[in-house]
Amino acid sequence: MQLNLPSPVQQLIDPIFAEKGLEVYIKRDDLIHPLISGNKWRKLKYLLQKAQSENKSHLVTFGGAYSNHLLATAAAAQFSGLHSTGIVRGEEVSNETLKQCHASGMTLIFTDRESYRDKQALFNHYFKNDADAFFIDEGGASAEGVLGCSELMDELDQEFDHIFCAAGTATTAAGIYQSIKNHELNTQLNIVSALKGGEFLLEEIQKYHSIDERLTLHTNYHFGGYAKSTDELLEFIISFYKQTNILLDPVYTGKMMFALYDLVKRNHLKPGSRILAIHTGGLMGLLGVKEKICKIDPDFKQILEQLCQK
Ligand SMILES: *Cc1c(COP(=O)(O)O)cnc(C)c1O
Repeated sequence: MQLNLPSPVQQLIDPIFAEKGLEVYIKRDDLIHPLISGNKWRKLKYLLQKAQSENKSHLVTFGGAYSNHLLATAAAAQFSGLHSTGIVRGEEVSNETLKQCHASGMTLIFTDRESYRDKQALFNHYFKNDADAFFIDEGGASAEGVLGCSELMDELDQEFDHIFCAAGTATTAAGIYQSIKNHELNTQLNIVSALKGGEFLLEEIQKYHSIDERLTLHTNYHFGGYAKSTDELLEFIISFYKQTNILLDPVYTGKMMFALYDLVKRNHLKPGSRILAIHTGGLMGLLGVKEKICKIDPDFKQILEQLCQK
């Protein structure tokens, strides 16, 4: 398996950053691997090691129909010679993400939303008697996932005043925060919730660490909720791409970067600050807004077709 690690850090050039006296960089975890992109590789790394050390040959995990985590798990299992099963929330559907999961050898089981709530019960229902089965929580949320994500920080060769990161389960954020605390860095971690009602994310992080003033949770950039988007968000993603040649996804990284720009415009970031945005990947999410985004900018059709061919 070819992984592009350490992932590159690039400076983002935009007149607004110069005007506000800020240096802004982006860590391109989206370039780690086309299918196991971004934080998903980091979250799976130690889970895979644990499965293998326990001689488990069958990864079982959970996600929605557009889950980047399902896709990453399917691909990682295939590369490691393991079986995989994805338990998918909701009635049976088909889309690029699920097709790719299937192509990577993943068995898909669709389940109603009510049953989906209790992952452990679902696992027991299907795999109680399968000694090879290894449980991986939705989104890879786990102490192993936190540890893997904390390694992102070891790859940096300079310190930052602010780090921005999108959150779904906040496992990635917990990993970054772990490293900030362990290395006693003076870095402010800005977590941007991709979901409505993201206040619960603080509790998720507190499962791993006590929280201090170096952590800020932004809950107002969800654009209607998880996997919801607005024309304003999609227009931002288009203009960011034109400015930087970097694609963002509408579920996570688009919202994170929108928040960063918004806080810059509102002068919430002190002049002289050095800022790092984590590009956690997830570009397949763009396929979920294909029609909407192509309606705004027909040029995006070609860009999205290239995504499908990867
Ligand atoms: C899954 C995902 C996230 C969320 O990561 P958590 O560790 O669950 O908070 C963020 N960005 C992208 C692109 C993702 O696919």
